[in-house]
Amino acid sequence: MKLFRKLVKSELHTRIFIGLIAGIPAGFFLGGMVDYLEPVGDIFLRLIRMIVVPLVFSSLFVGTASLGDIRKLGRIGIKTMGYYLCTTAIAITIGLILGNIFTPGNSIDQATRDKLFSAHQAEAAQKIDIASNKPDILDTLVKIVPGNPVESLAEANMLQIIFFALLLGIAVTMVPEEKGKPLIRFFEALSDTMIRTVHIVMKMAPLGVFALIAVVVGRFGTDILVSLLKYTLVVLLGLGVHVMLTYSTAIRLFAGYSPLKFLRGIRPAQLIAFSTSSSSATLPVTIECCEENLGVSEKISSFVLPLGATINMDGTALYQGVAAIFIAQVYGIPLTITNQLTIVLMATLASIGAAGVPGIGIITLAMVLETIGVPLEGIALILGVDRLIDMCRTTVNITGDSSCALIIGASENELREELPAKD
Ligand code: ASP
Repeated sequence: MKLFRKLVKSELHTRIFIGLIAGIPAGFFLGGMVDYLEPVGDIFLRLIRMIVVPLVFSSLFVGTASLGDIRKLGRIGIKTMGYYLCTTAIAITIGLILGNIFTPGNSIDQATRDKLFSAHQAEAAQKIDIASNKPDILDTLVKIVPGNPVESLAEANMLQIIFFALLLGIAVTMVPEEKGKPLIRFFEALSDTMIRTVHIVMKMAPLGVFALIAVVVGRFGTDILVSLLKYTLVVLLGLGVHVMLTYSTAIRLFAGYSPLKFLRGIRPAQLIAFSTSSSSATLPVTIECCEENLGVSEKISSFVLPLGATINMDGTALYQGVAAIFIAQVYGIPLTITNQLTIVLMATLASIGAAGVPGIGIITLAMVLETIGVPLEGIALILGVDRLIDMCRTTVNITGDSSCALIIGASENELREELPAKD
């Protein structure tokens, strides 16, 4: 009883972590019963997704209106994009280097290859079909401008919502103050209320995470993991290197902040990202962690983080580097330096247009493979472990977004000195 009370009173990330750990054996031992847990996970997911659109729109509008300076906005925009593009390119490079060093594809024999193919051929065909219908980069750029903002909000089209909120935030500073003020006050109230809603929803996080993990573990084929162990380990190693090397160095260098303190501050968001495999769904928690635990101002977090959840996917890009090399190795196709540079370019561009939802990385991977002439059907080889890798790469994706918020916050003097007690 005492233990239970202690547990209930423990910090949020501890409770989520316990939910996650408990979900693993539950998934193993419940077998077909995990189906009954699926609605619990779904309810939790829907609850956090429900917050995304009103929170992003209102806080970005208020943030832009309070900046009131287009030049400052432009500067923040350029720095943010610069950081996102550079870290993504570094991430793929790490993936490519490790793929070349460890050559995970060379250890796959013909029998394993056939087994992986036959298990996932149909699913791969579906993904390839979706990839072939994806709009190209130019189309993606055009579609940043919303034809109808109500539709953008209804469809949760993040880039369009960002565009509209920014424009409206700039415009409201140009109307007479007595007219603009009520609108700003309204969205200020909405944004604060949405943050409170995050707090309420997070009460369910331990249970939601437990259910999500139990379902994933219950449906996971461990024999596939054994066949793809080397590939999986190389991706995980790359992700670890990227967090420890790239982000830690950047945070120390550009924000003068302790990387460990940073990782501690965003732990709840990382746990949610890991269990949902969606950086968009995690967004409310990422915003909350950056503001409350790292002290990043709302102005910065409401701009940098929603943008990052859509266009910055370092973990995904890194995995695409390893996956492309792995598939090429299994097919015995040598990749030239030009091929590998094309992967860097294509994976960076592909991550811009992709929404932060589960499994999108494998669809954009198909687009990358096409440009370097590796058979698209090759994605069937890695589909069996994709969910597991998705959980890890999504965690890295939101870590990258948060590191950017911290660095931009520090460079703009938008970090709170005194941080409130956590949770
Ligand atoms: N699930 C990832 C995210 O939401 C995207 C992916 O790599 O599939 O960030």
